[in-house]
This record gives sequence, structure tokens and C-alpha cells, in this order.
Amino acid sequence: MSLNDIAVLIGNPVAHSLSPVFQQAAFDHMNINARYEAWETYADELKQKIDLLRSSEYLGANITIPYKLDSINFVDSIDDIAEQVGAINTIISRNGILAGTNTDVEGIQNSFKLANVNLKNKNVILFGAGGAARAVMVAMKNAGVKAITVINRTEKKAKDFELFSDSNFKVSILSAHLATSQSGKIFTNADIIINATSLGMSKGESELLSPIPQELLYSSQVVFDLVYTPEQTPLLQMAESAGAQCIGGLAMLVFQGAASFRLWTDKNPPLEVMFRAAKKELDY
Ligand code: NAP
Repeated sequence: MSLNDIAVLIGNPVAHSLSPVFQQAAFDHMNINARYEAWETYADELKQKIDLLRSSEYLGANITIPYKLDSINFVDSIDDIAEQVGAINTIISRNGILAGTNTDVEGIQNSFKLANVNLKNKNVILFGAGGAARAVMVAMKNAGVKAITVINRTEKKAKDFELFSDSNFKVSILSAHLATSQSGKIFTNADIIINATSLGMSKGESELLSPIPQELLYSSQVVFDLVYTPEQTPLLQMAESAGAQCIGGLAMLVFQGAASFRLWTDKNPPLEVMFRAAKKELDY
């Protein structure tokens, strides 16, 4: 690597992203003379911006909302994980060739590992059917989850998730308006509850909302919220009151970024440094 190495974040908006903060901290800590830039990108510029990464100074990119799907069209290859998810969040640039992958899946699996939660043969309920939920499906399937129930406001989008099912991985779709106390049995049988909707995100219109009422949460459960601002989302507050084990979204964010860092640099990411930088920025 040379003095001019660059990794970038491509998305819109990118101004408040944490990736530049913890990726730059990792480069600096490892004495890698690289810089991390955030490129706010309009849809009609996406191909041109990705093509710039073919130049030798670029290590690659992170791809964020809303381009995780469309970016697949502008790289030279994608790996099996990206194929399964149907989206990329990382591009690796080597000798002008661009390879796409999806490290959100590793970020999700490592979040459970860090919390010492074994996913094998578990029953999961997933709220959401957007891009992040697709990565959750692949992470759960590849980690040996037995059955998953997907609940989404727009039921048609959840229906598409039936394609993930196979003989070892049972996928059921539950209508969002039925996800109340009437369907309590599904919830008592669930080992793990995951929120991959944007409910609970600070400053959003649904910042005070949880996808599930407190009476459907149990002390035997693990509750994972992908949302990481605030640290204690409404869902995690309820889960804590119910005595459940809570996992916040920051671990996923840092682990997916750490996996990208490893792919760009071939070096082990300084996880502690990355977590510390992200937490400091968030005021956790
Ligand atoms: P997305 O593709 O836009 O999907 C948004 C999801 O939220 C959809 O399922 C949508 O349902 C649902 N939703 C939005 N507003 C809702 C409402 N008022 N009521 C019920 N459901 C609602 O976004 P995404 O990329 O999947 O991201 C989802 C969340 O995960 C975001 O909060 C994001 O910050 C978080 N995330 C975290 C990480 C991390 O590293 N921790 C990584 C990626 C994403 P409809 O289909 O009905 O619109």
C-alpha cells in the first residue's frame, strides 16, 4: 500500500455515517497511510463513481443505502454470499478489477457470537423485509437456524423471502396486523427476535415505536435490534424490562466494517479501536 490509498463510502446520504470515523481510526492505528472518504452519490452518478475505484490508489468501497442492490451491476464479480443476499455492501479493487461481497452477513453472525448466542436449530422472528433483513435471512440460514417467521408492514415484500426456504430452513410469513397478542404462541416459541425495520431510529418519524409490544417478549429470548441510534431503542428497553438478552446494532455495524477492512488491507482489523471510535462518536 502507498501513501495515497483510499477507501470510500458510496451512498446517499453519507454525511452522518459512522464508517469514516471508525475506518479512519483503524487505518491510523495500524499505521496504514490510507484515508477513508464519504462520497455522497446521486443515482445517475453511481456507475461513474464505482468505475473510479478501478484506479490503483483505491482499496475499495463500502456501499450503503440506497445502492446496495444496484451496485451489483457495476462490479466485475460477486461472491456466493452477495449472490445469496442479492446485494453488496463492499467492493474490493485489485489491479483494476472490482469484486463485490456482502459483509453485513458476517456482521450479524459476529454480533451473536460476541454475545455468546448459538443460532443452531433456533426459532427466529424477523421484523422487516428490506435490504438489511435479506442479510439477516442469509446469516440465519447459514448459521443453522431451524425456522424463521418474517413479519413486515408490506406483506408482499415479506412473501419474497419464502425463496430462502429449504428443507433445513423453514420460512413462514405472518401478516403484520396479526402480529399482536392474538398470535402469542408464535412469540412464546421464539428463541430470538430481530428488528430489521427502521422503527425506533432516533430522529425518525417512528423513533418511539417498537415492532412488538412488551407483553410478547420473554426472559428466555434474545432480542437483536439492528438500529444503533439510540443505543437503547424502544424495543431493547422493553426487552430489558422483560429480562431478555439484548444485542444492539452497533456490533453489526463495526463487524461489517471490520470485515471490509480485512478484505481491503489483508490485515486483521483492530476491533477494539474501531468499537471505541464508533462509541465515542455516538456518545454511547
Ligand atoms: P430498507 O431496505 O429501507 O427497509 C426498511 C424496513 O423497515 C422495511 O421492512 C420497512 O417496511 C420497514 N419500515 C419502515 N418504516 C416502518 C414503519 N413505520 N412501520 C413498520 N415498518 C416500517 O432499510 P434497511 O437497509 O433494510 O435498514 C433497516 C434498518 O436496519 C434501518 O434502521 C437501518 O439503520 C438498520 N441497519 C443497521 C445496520 C447495522 O450495521 N447495524 C446495517 C443495515 C441497516 P416496508 O417494506 O413496509 O416499507
